[in-house]
Amino acid sequence: SRVKEVEFVKSSARARDCPKDNKPEFAILGRSNVGKSSLINALVRKKEVALTSKKPGKTQLINHFLVNKSWYIVDLPGYGFAKVSETARMDWSSFTKGYFINRDTLVAVLLLVDASVPPQKIDLDCANWLGRNNIPMTFVFTKCDKMKVSKGKRPDENIREFQQLIRQNYKVHPSWIMTSSVTGLGRDELLLHMSQLRNY
Ligand code: GDP
Repeated sequence: SRVKEVEFVKSSARARDCPKDNKPEFAILGRSNVGKSSLINALVRKKEVALTSKKPGKTQLINHFLVNKSWYIVDLPGYGFAKVSETARMDWSSFTKGYFINRDTLVAVLLLVDASVPPQKIDLDCANWLGRNNIPMTFVFTKCDKMKVSKGKRPDENIREFQQLIRQNYKVHPSWIMTSSVTGLGRDELLLHMSQLRNY
């Protein structure tokens, strides 16, 4: 499960523009500011990789990164910008949902959830939507190093609450991994998890 090589392949506006070479892929999804770019950079250990997707105009695109010439990490647009209009939010969802429904090579969605804040409805809704559409997912809790919060709860408490809400209200039982892009926690576990899913 080692990352030897990573290459940015392309940005696509629609699912049908994505690479057609049938390699397995993992989509990385989460609220803006959840730590998506940091996690991708930590996974591939290259500072410049995910930055490609932060260039202006590329934020609403599906970005494919080829790992070891054999599988893709896919950077999807973040959701839940508080400031955007309802219309823009609808655009995001039809755009991204089209990708989930139509992408046959999608192995699993890595749903990033910020462990330093209490459970957010938009994350629960997203997990629920993926579950209802039978799209395999793994919860990847980010920022688990943030143990010293001035107010509010610790990451492990937020994670427990999130899991409880999922169990109580939704019919999904995803596996989950705790990560930190600062300490490197969960990096190897996540890479191993992805290699197991690819070979399944
Ligand atoms: P994105 O918008 O989802 O791509 O989020 P970024 O990767 O740009 O991170 C958003 C903010 O959270 C930045 O200020 C990061 O430094 C911070 N951040 C990201 N990952 C971690 C983490 O694992 N631990 C801590 N403490 N901060 C993080």
